[in-house]
Amino acid sequence: MRSKAFIYCRISDDKTGEKLGVQRQEEDCRALAEEKGYEVVRVFQDNDISAYSGKARPEYSAMVARVATGEVDAVLCWHPDRLHRRPVELEAYIDACRDGKAITLSVKAGEMDLATDAGQMIARMLGAAARYESDTKATRIRRASEQATRAGKWTGGTRPFGWTITDGTPALHPEESAAIASACARVLRGDSLGSIIREMNDQGLTTTRGKPWGYAQLAQALERPRNAGLASYHGEIVGESTFPAIVSENVWRGVCAVLRDPARRRSQSNKAVHLLAGIAQCHCGAYVRTAGVTARDGTRHKIYRCPVRGSGHVSKRVAFVDDVVNTAIIAVRAAEAATKKAPTGPDPEAEQLQVEATALRKRQEEAGVQAALGQIPMQMLGSINAVIERELEAVTAAMVRLEEAAARHVPAEEDIRPVSMNSPEAAEWISMHIDDRKDYLRRVCNVVLLPHGKSSTKVFDRDTVQVVVKAPGEGQGPLEERQIQRLRTRRENFRGVGDGVFITFHGDGEEFTYRLDDGVNQPPPSGSELFQGLTFVARSGDAGRRE
Ligand SMILES: [Zn+2]
Repeated sequence: MRSKAFIYCRISDDKTGEKLGVQRQEEDCRALAEEKGYEVVRVFQDNDISAYSGKARPEYSAMVARVATGEVDAVLCWHPDRLHRRPVELEAYIDACRDGKAITLSVKAGEMDLATDAGQMIARMLGAAARYESDTKATRIRRASEQATRAGKWTGGTRPFGWTITDGTPALHPEESAAIASACARVLRGDSLGSIIREMNDQGLTTTRGKPWGYAQLAQALERPRNAGLASYHGEIVGESTFPAIVSENVWRGVCAVLRDPARRRSQSNKAVHLLAGIAQCHCGAYVRTAGVTARDGTRHKIYRCPVRGSGHVSKRVAFVDDVVNTAIIAVRAAEAATKKAPTGPDPEAEQLQVEATALRKRQEEAGVQAALGQIPMQMLGSINAVIERELEAVTAAMVRLEEAAARHVPAEEDIRPVSMNSPEAAEWISMHIDDRKDYLRRVCNVVLLPHGKSSTKVFDRDTVQVVVKAPGEGQGPLEERQIQRLRTRRENFRGVGDGVFITFHGDGEEFTYRLDDGVNQPPPSGSELFQGLTFVARSGDAGRRE
């Protein structure tokens, strides 16, 4: 039986000088199918004049969906740049080919097996090199530089979200640019796109076409080089934009790196997930798990329990522990937001990383051009780029760490305070996807559950839940035994002084501990909205708080 293939053709005016008709593309692809022994199952074609506008391509989408099911063995196209217009599309295409075990064959660039790293790298490079496809090097360079000049300017079309345009001159749109800046900060902090989208839609912020935000639209809006004041041409940075920047280039690159990180994709599961399972440690050091138990009065509830059984190891109700951790984290996030450092001058370390990144991208671009011109074999391009890509990843990761470090620091005492459950900070945290909250906790803090102590009635004490905020760059992983011992000692010293939530910060080689009181012993300022949400755990009927 002959292997099966789809053909994909697309008309576009991509200014590469080759307005190749669909007819001709299809003829060439059919000849290729004949030569390689494929049976053509279907031809998909889109007429897509504004290639980079993000306009839907129904035929392309339909084809990618069918490729993912494994219906065909190959996709044939005239050139890979007919297939994908933007890197984000390429990534979806790579997934589909991997799932459907299909290879890609093109008339101009040969075979690509996107299941391999090298194949993926070649595909990415061909995208970058596509603009160099014209007759002579001189024309190519002149044309690219003309495009570059134009690219930074407003050339009409739908107004981009974040700016106003008056007589062709762009200026920042106050609310929209603030929304983009805030969304970037949240992405770097580990928030999900979903939580950001919900908030933007709730605030009544729409796209400039008046539509509600969706994943694709927001990802696209956050990945625009223009956000960092950069002009791009077909996905390549070609200079400065006439649009004023909304965020720094570092932030923008960090956001792109986070959004393109495959680890972000997650599968949906119906399994109940508890916030601190596998995150909070018993005071013995082990990570707790969840279990269901029946109380004396017959009610069922969930507990966090140390996997090491025996007396002394913790077992505490999920709802109580989660309340304490939510209280602490919301306060930490609010303090971070309130005391966010105003941007100071350029950081020399960041500038150095920037230089390195630019140099690496230059090398990548040159290799792509050489390969497109046939000066180096495609196979070699794959390995060259694999090396460059690894270096780039390291540089980008360092940039993201720098940004995170700049955003996170030990807050001053007056900035750490209880935050109402009615506050935007609380709403933001609670509305985040549970996976995102867990990711955030793993990255930002440690949680330790201490034994309840010598009290005869085993009542839940909020200060048995200790939250330790990591220093920037500290890395993930459990707290060591001696650190846990220190938390125990400190808590013993504070006992009997009301019911409080401990938050410890790791800062420049030092530790700072703050304690949020729930106002039982220290009445809150009268009429203060801020303290309203503080009764997370009902004081009435301590029996209800049995561990
Ligand atoms: Zn234990």
